[in-house]
Amino acid sequence: MKSQTMRCFAIVCSVVLCTTACQQLPIVKAPSQNFNERVNHLVIHFTSENFQESLNILTQSETRPVSAHYLLPDPMDATYDLSELKIFALVPPQFRAWHAGNSYWAGKTGLNDQSIGIEIVNESRCLDDIATLANQPAFKDRCRFEAFAPEQIALLIALIKEILKDFPDISPHAIIGHADIAPSRKIDPGPLFPWRQLYGEGIGAWFDENRVQTLIPWLETHPIPLETQQRLLNHYGYDLDVTGTEDTQSQLAVRAFQMHFRPNNYSGFFDTETLARLISLIERYRPEGLTLISDLPEAIALHRALP
Ligand SMILES: [Zn+2]
Repeated sequence: MKSQTMRCFAIVCSVVLCTTACQQLPIVKAPSQNFNERVNHLVIHFTSENFQESLNILTQSETRPVSAHYLLPDPMDATYDLSELKIFALVPPQFRAWHAGNSYWAGKTGLNDQSIGIEIVNESRCLDDIATLANQPAFKDRCRFEAFAPEQIALLIALIKEILKDFPDISPHAIIGHADIAPSRKIDPGPLFPWRQLYGEGIGAWFDENRVQTLIPWLETHPIPLETQQRLLNHYGYDLDVTGTEDTQSQLAVRAFQMHFRPNNYSGFFDTETLARLISLIERYRPEGLTLISDLPEAIALHRALP
């Protein structure tokens, strides 16, 4: 009893006397090793509007209640009148911005709670609700994508590098586009966003290009059922139901994946190239998903045989 009293006394002596609240409350400092950052995702967007319109929408509550942590202007935009390209900080990163909306990634929902959102001024857009544009000719006809300015991307890369220093819990495969986390509603940042260039700068996920060239002939002789392909895509992160048919929701999720990882052909349909890139990404970032492939021993043997 006496030693317990002494222990309590020692603990009370370590009360933190740092702030007014600490001085008033009987708080004992007992640091745990078991914690992580609340922010562990980074979501990239384009605004579909010019700079001034975007700034208004993202900062004023009387318009739509949306925001982001950062806004990156387009240097060619007539409504941006500063001589240098600057990053606009709209919401401090420790606060929750309203950029993701209904969202899903790898089992997590409501990503506003755990992400930083970056809006890039770029006037790409679809003229209709994309849920009505699963069909490829309609999508190509009704959606228009604009290139990103190289200065914008250079500044974005510098910004993300700083963010990753402050939030090291953001893993490469948690650096994603709005379309990745809301494929039935969103298309941003679109197929012209340079994900591969970012990967070359140490930002985000990318597949092993050599590995994909090895996987393609293997997949051609080992066809994988459509249900398994859908399960693999869902395992990597995308929100889709395993239906065994390439229905609208499947096409939208596949197209979101392709706009990110196969931007030269975003048909919305699985094919060998798409599947090879997906498997390579799973091998790199979520290898537990390989158990979904029924022909696993041969797949692993092939993987191990690689240099
Ligand atoms: Zn967006």
